[in-house]
Amino acid sequence: MKKNDILRLPIEDLSAEGEGIGKADSFPFFVKDALPGDLAEVRITKLQKTYGYARLLSVIEPSSDRVEARCPKARACGGCQLQELRYEAELKFKTKKVADALQRIGGFRVSGEPGGEGIYVPEALGMADPWRYRAKAQIPFGYDRDGKLVAGFYAGRTHDIIDMEDCLLAPEETAGTLRAVKAWMLEYGVPAYREDVHEGLVRHLLFRKGFATGEIMACLIVNGSGIPHADALLEKLRKVPGFKTLTVNENRARTNVILGRRTETLYGPGWIEDRIGDVRFRISPASFFQVNPVQTAVLYGKALEYAGLKGDETVWDLYCGIGTISLFLAQKARRVYGVEIVPDAVRDARENAALNGFQNASFFAGKAEEVLPAYYAEHPEEKADVIVVDPPRKGCDRALLDTVARMAPDRFVYVSCDPATLARDLRIMDGYGYRIAAVQPVDMFPNSRHVETVCCLYHQKKDFISVPYEPKNAEYLKKN
Ligand code: SAH
Repeated sequence: MKKNDILRLPIEDLSAEGEGIGKADSFPFFVKDALPGDLAEVRITKLQKTYGYARLLSVIEPSSDRVEARCPKARACGGCQLQELRYEAELKFKTKKVADALQRIGGFRVSGEPGGEGIYVPEALGMADPWRYRAKAQIPFGYDRDGKLVAGFYAGRTHDIIDMEDCLLAPEETAGTLRAVKAWMLEYGVPAYREDVHEGLVRHLLFRKGFATGEIMACLIVNGSGIPHADALLEKLRKVPGFKTLTVNENRARTNVILGRRTETLYGPGWIEDRIGDVRFRISPASFFQVNPVQTAVLYGKALEYAGLKGDETVWDLYCGIGTISLFLAQKARRVYGVEIVPDAVRDARENAALNGFQNASFFAGKAEEVLPAYYAEHPEEKADVIVVDPPRKGCDRALLDTVARMAPDRFVYVSCDPATLARDLRIMDGYGYRIAAVQPVDMFPNSRHVETVCCLYHQKKDFISVPYEPKNAEYLKKN
């Protein structure tokens, strides 16, 4: 076999990246846009020692899970990897991804059904309507080869902008906002930024919507200190239902980082508000806020259930961002401490605590793996009943897990955006005597390959923690 050879491949599996996997003479190929069950015609694009990559030329016989992509740009755009997979099958894929990681990376025994021998991973909790769920879109501007103004998304792994009018993962108002900005640029000759020569003005439109409030924010990121004809832009934006605020962010650097440091408010308060459950959040252009607020309520509801709070507990929320989980927990706990590395996020967390009238939540700026041991050393008498972590993809720092083990909380709740690092960290915690009582994948990003997982651990020496969601599995764990 060599590059450019054409093969017929039966696709058998999906990679963690969402590519179809098919074998030719037991040599595996990764094929973007191919799905398990497809018989695919492919061309080899790259050969490594033990695997290769191939491009999908045509689907000879489609998988029974194959559906037509709703978005005409689905294959070209880097945003969605699984639009052509039926949603039920997508949820199964995500569930399996978590179970596989626990088994292969964590070395845990995994059971296919509740009550079996091993950890049972129930199906990922999905959305009733897995479209238009994103509370935020960052849309780059530029020019195509013919010099036409374009705005849309980067094609997978490149900086070529795919022009788009509407993204089906974003709310409808995104399209209206984008149309307004484009019309204003064309009408007043406002230039888009050109990355190659570092010239021009408009780099990105940052769009945010509060799902519970309907409030809309537009933030233009510009290579300059302001925008011309701002009134004309405002007039157009006011027609977007829910439009609340317009800000301009200055970013003159030659960088892939989207936001610069200075933001000026041109209209409205400069922020929007949203609610997750009963907790209110104020969101500025630079704030980190969960992308899918509807599923965030599901995920945090699960985390709260796993925390098993009765009202007198001391709880730590590590990697707390703007305090989303912390404030969820503060509704039920005596005392919540949040730790977050980004000082601005900590400021937001404090403001959000005040906005909601919580006096039992405090926040520390710093590395979780440094703040927690330092605090514990100073207050060895203060018991942590529950510790929650929600780390970035690389997972928890080892020093942090060591400290958690020393603090010996009754429960340890792990929220994870990467099953591989989750499995690695759970294995470490297993070494400290922490057993898995329940695992629940949650689909926060329908149509993409990403999956979130929330996991409840308890110490084997403590009384068994019953997690109502999976009692049979819990029984098994109790015995072992
Ligand atoms: N729980 C929050 C945010 C989770 S994202 C929410 O749901 O909104 C992970 C967060 O961890 C980010 O805000 C990131 O800034 C923070 N972070 C990354 N490394 C960290 C570290 N070593 N210590 C503390 N926080 C860290």
